[in-house]
Amino acid sequence: MDAVCDARRQPQIPTPVVMRALAVLFLVRLGSLNALAQTRRQPFWCRWLGSDLPSADTLGRVASQVEISDLRAVQQQVYVRLKRGKALPAPVHGLIAAVVDGHESHATFRRHCPGCLTRTIHAAGGDRTQYYHRHVSLQLVGADWTLLVDAEPQRPGEDEVAAALRLLERVLARYPRAFEVLVADGLYADPRVFNFVFTHGKDILAVLKDNHPALLEDARSLFATLTPTSGRYRLRTCQWWDLVGFTTWPQVAASIRIVRSVETWSVQRQRDGQVEPQQTEWFWVTTLAPTPAPTAAVVQLGHARWAIENAGFNELVTRWHADHVYRHEPTALLVFTLLAMLCLNVFLMFYRRDLKPAARQAASRLHVARLITAELYGARRAASPRAPP
Ligand SMILES: [Zn+2]
Repeated sequence: MDAVCDARRQPQIPTPVVMRALAVLFLVRLGSLNALAQTRRQPFWCRWLGSDLPSADTLGRVASQVEISDLRAVQQQVYVRLKRGKALPAPVHGLIAAVVDGHESHATFRRHCPGCLTRTIHAAGGDRTQYYHRHVSLQLVGADWTLLVDAEPQRPGEDEVAAALRLLERVLARYPRAFEVLVADGLYADPRVFNFVFTHGKDILAVLKDNHPALLEDARSLFATLTPTSGRYRLRTCQWWDLVGFTTWPQVAASIRIVRSVETWSVQRQRDGQVEPQQTEWFWVTTLAPTPAPTAAVVQLGHARWAIENAGFNELVTRWHADHVYRHEPTALLVFTLLAMLCLNVFLMFYRRDLKPAARQAASRLHVARLITAELYGARRAASPRAPP
């Protein structure tokens, strides 16, 4: 017999009950609504929801009817509480970054919805239409923390930058003092983004690639006449070139600065133990002035872009099953994305700020996640470390 709590069953499932249930879906990293539904006999649900766990179908259906702004408001509350609690310190250079990037969640040739983007795949058997979804996310990056604060789906007929501008407008309104500089890959070295960010009182730093050949050529020829300065980025030895006042990009209203970093380091090959030298070259274009952002700060901020790949998308996809299509419907897809981000934020902040250093040394993040899972399945709660509230 199913475990039925004392609370009277409601004829309609309240949305907060569904959201609390879906938060557990991500925190225990189950990866599917059906897997979650199979735990419905566990007494945990009575304690957590005050009612029975809704069916998998109900969870997906209600997710497609959630008011997105309510979910974003919860994330904003989390940010405000962390900020007031001084849990979000700036890096040594003093500039908190907002890293923005697009992520394609899934692609299929079969099922599609009104929010699907399309592309033509040329195959041996003929052209086929592929359906996919992409959203643009924004992640704050500070001294020792990252926080995914919002996401915006790319709509049919628009490009990624258009979705990013919609996201930025909302984030700047909700989080006006959360960051100083927007950091992005080469796609965002776009006059629309640079002018938007600059006119809203923020700075921007983007990778400079071949998509701006005139600007890149201008920088290369000028840097060839300069002696580089020496610096370090982590274990890498660097040579840096840094110039302000480029005029080769007239569509951008701000003063343009370009930084080049040639970085060398060595790795020991596993197969024969030989030490192998490595070298990479970066160009960044930015509106940041040398004060308060000296060359070393620009280089650190430029590399911070990878935080959204490593501590953002990769973590969400590989550990939190965020790319799984829980329900193929535009609102539901965004709800699951935002909820996964919210759960990741709360989990990481609990791990970094709530656990004592000794507890973190004794328990990896995966171990803590397994303790949370054990609680769902009715195992005795471990004495330490304690699970998130
Ligand atoms: Zn779709």
